[in-house]
Amino acid sequence: MSLPLGTAYINQEFVPIEEAKISILDWGFLRSDATYDVVHVWKGRFFRLDSHIDRFIESASRIHLTLPVDRPGLEKILAECTSRSGHDNAYVEMILTRGVSPAFSRDPRDAENQLICFAIPFGWILPPEDRHRGLAVAISDIQRIPPESVDPRVKNYHWLDFVMGLYDAFARGSTNVILRDGSGNLTEGPGFNVFVVKNKVIATPNRGVLEGITRRSVIELAGELGLTMEQRAVTVDETLGADEIFATSTAGGIMPITKIDNLPVSDGVMGDITKRLLDAYWDRHVDPQFSISVAEILCR
Ligand code: PLP
Repeated sequence: MSLPLGTAYINQEFVPIEEAKISILDWGFLRSDATYDVVHVWKGRFFRLDSHIDRFIESASRIHLTLPVDRPGLEKILAECTSRSGHDNAYVEMILTRGVSPAFSRDPRDAENQLICFAIPFGWILPPEDRHRGLAVAISDIQRIPPESVDPRVKNYHWLDFVMGLYDAFARGSTNVILRDGSGNLTEGPGFNVFVVKNKVIATPNRGVLEGITRRSVIELAGELGLTMEQRAVTVDETLGADEIFATSTAGGIMPITKIDNLPVSDGVMGDITKRLLDAYWDRHVDPQFSISVAEILCR
């Protein structure tokens, strides 16, 4: 199987991605007991690295994991992975697993937390050349894991709800999925937040979702562009008469959703508000207030 070219940091060493291996006794593998974050590097610059690291540290602390390095140490590891990978546009992931417990103890406090990082080529949920076509999404009856069970603000690998949702979507002729919560309202999709636009007002779910960093960028940019943004429960009915719907993710930025359950959203192409936010989002990638070059971190 061919793997993407990249560099990993594991067991305190930098290795080619194909040599990065974890123990099958790691709780991260056996129980999805881990947190992670993904930041992207665009044209040699990390975008909102501070926000991603803040979220990673916060996630780790919420689930009783301890980072074995300090913040500057983590930044250096991420920059080193990226630089060694040779990619100017990269998908950079940091993972903290519960690790292995000596003698396979069932007490998670015995495990030695393990930091793994890697940089591979930037990957798109929706490649730019397909933007005009947009995403064709089903709204599944499969319920998103409730926030009372697994806190979605802790970025996690409990993805069986999403993966089963994807199979549900494929069976219904769509290529991606949005899950609902216990009240039937929209939550999010596998790796993305969702926004619905009607009469120039943008709404996004505020509960039962990861607080995406791209979502945050969109909320800020909407404010700067003078657009109204509501963070609240969003119903499925609102998608039916929506003017625009879009998804947000570090893996691709802002992506128009042009079909819901096989029906076109409005006229079935990317809308004006989505386009304005998308352009502003990518412009922000060269702004030093939001981005830092890989080389600058390595020189520190
Ligand atoms: N929701 C989920 C469940 C995710 O896994 C992700 C990212 O992977 C997102 C939303 C989008 O978050 P971000 O914009 O920080 O990439």
